[in-house]
Amino acid sequence: MSLMERLERLNLVDGQLRGLSVRVEKATTFHRAQTKQLDLERNRTEEAKANLLQVKAAYGVVETEAKALDAQIETSRERMDTSATAKEYNALLVELNTVKNERSKLDETMVQQLNEVERLEALVAESESSAGERESVVATAAQEVKEREAEIAERVSELQTERDQAAADIPPDVLDLYDSLTKQLDGEATAHVEIESFRHKEFSCSACSMQIPFAIVSNLYAGLGRVQQCTNCRCIMLLGEEVRTELDKDSKKNAKRREKAAREG
Ligand SMILES: [Zn+2]
Repeated sequence: MSLMERLERLNLVDGQLRGLSVRVEKATTFHRAQTKQLDLERNRTEEAKANLLQVKAAYGVVETEAKALDAQIETSRERMDTSATAKEYNALLVELNTVKNERSKLDETMVQQLNEVERLEALVAESESSAGERESVVATAAQEVKEREAEIAERVSELQTERDQAAADIPPDVLDLYDSLTKQLDGEATAHVEIESFRHKEFSCSACSMQIPFAIVSNLYAGLGRVQQCTNCRCIMLLGEEVRTELDKDSKKNAKRREKAAREG
């Protein structure tokens, strides 16, 4: 296996390792976001429940006050019925009207409180139901994380062995370059030569799409130098089968041309 083939294999295995960890990361991120959402919904439920208790307690207080006023109204009426003089009667009437006013204000308050109770009960029911739905989403997400991690545990050791094999016999300086490029370039340390125009000997880098000098391609083809890097993005350039075949054809044509020239010359 040539150095280029080894690098290609190493890159492939590294890509698989990255792909696996990305899947776990995705599952973990989703689980975290859903758990946070669930916490918010539970807090909202608790808050609504606490408010509901407060409003109900306040309603209880007002209800007691209202009952006391009702009793007072009853007493005033009885006293009016037995009043001896018009003066006394009128004084009792004024008192009765004042109490009745207070009582009707309490009615308004109680209606407002009952509306609030209704609103909060609906809010509690709604947040409880959405928290319930969220709980099952969180449970599924947790399961997903576990499955992805189990998947990784099995595959990582297999891939690690494959990586060691692929890395074997790659000269240390090339491996160092590969590893540091992998870090710098977010994973992709290698790129393929792509044909822009074979006739004009124009080639580009598959990673950055920039044109690369023909010297890089011909060095790769001739197996000169250990590695060739893209002059733009610094990726280690690899020569694919397709480009190699084209170059093979071209070099045969050139050989024939040379033979013909030699015969004629
Ligand atoms: Zn490039």
